[in-house]
Amino acid sequence: MNKTSIQIDAIEKSFKDGTRALQPIQLEIEPGEVVVLLGPSGCGKSTLLRIVAGLEQPTRGKVLFNHTDVTGLPPEKRDVGFVFQQYALFPTMTVAENICFGMKIKKFSKSQQHKKLEELLTLLNIEELRDRRPNQLSGGQQQRVAIARAIATEPKILLMDEPLTALDAKLKEHLRLELAQLFRKLNITTLYVTHDQVEAMAIADRIAVMNKGRIEQIDSPREIYRHPKSPFVAQFVGQVNRMQGKLIERDQHKFIDFGFVEIAYDDDLVGGMEDKDTMGVEAFIRPEDIHIGHDHGIEMEITEVMFLGERIRLIGSCNGHKLMVDVANETMVERGDMIYLYVNQEKIIFG
Ligand code: ATP
Repeated sequence: MNKTSIQIDAIEKSFKDGTRALQPIQLEIEPGEVVVLLGPSGCGKSTLLRIVAGLEQPTRGKVLFNHTDVTGLPPEKRDVGFVFQQYALFPTMTVAENICFGMKIKKFSKSQQHKKLEELLTLLNIEELRDRRPNQLSGGQQQRVAIARAIATEPKILLMDEPLTALDAKLKEHLRLELAQLFRKLNITTLYVTHDQVEAMAIADRIAVMNKGRIEQIDSPREIYRHPKSPFVAQFVGQVNRMQGKLIERDQHKFIDFGFVEIAYDDDLVGGMEDKDTMGVEAFIRPEDIHIGHDHGIEMEITEVMFLGERIRLIGSCNGHKLMVDVANETMVERGDMIYLYVNQEKIIFG
């Protein structure tokens, strides 16, 4: 498959009613890369995707494929495949006819169509569904057909808007894995929209976290999770405990006192999070980076125990601070227990 890069150059969008959906956005997507736009409802992810698709015109800025300006081109001239949340299959056509539709329009020969159809039915594991119509398929099966249809004409770019959102949790998890494998196999440049951070982590090469029409951070899933660059990203991706600290000095050494834990002050760590006026510091710690100690540490009284399957989440109070702590699922603790905790200080996020 021939590889295409995408350049989103200073794209802005304001709707007629004055809604400013996108602030100037700059984004370069490498050939074959899977970039996920992740953010809360209304942050502008779908608008950006629709602009790349040609379904929406930007107010300012350009979209380029392989550095060629496509901003004025209609969707059908952009050579992109779409998959949306609603599968939008043709209801009167069979699975095979749905998949072949685009190839017919593009005048693929009969033998090309046949070869591609067989290949896709196998790839997406839907061989036995070929003669069924959409109303005879489950949601997950319909979405597989929609994906097969989108990639049948070998588009340069694949655009997906919340393709798994309508599916139940188990099926979502299954298809998420299949999609990640499919992306690796196809090696097609993909822009994928979701508000689900687990889905984004599982399939993205890079995640662009969006907030209020801007990209707050674009990085690998690991970087986004371990080193979020703003409080918004830290709180949106994964779970965090927010810590509000004060700078203190003792014996000519500086410390940050978070109320329940104190750490040595380090200029490099704190960086931009420090508010010089109030001497306050904002930081975050993930529940899995606080551990249960043996007979000393930070005392916490457990107020809630939530069994989450693969782990247990404890909620409690430490010196008046509410904390979430994740522990292994065999840990024997109950509401009302007093436990000792220690914080993995290297994992404190200063944003
Ligand atoms: P969701 O996950 O809920 O789909 P999103 O991040 O995809 O959200 P967009 O659909 O891109 O968000 O919308 C961004 C902003 O633009 C929102 O405030 C939305 O209400 C607004 N918006 C979207 N389409 C239009 C339109 N046609 N006219 C006016 N405002 C619009």
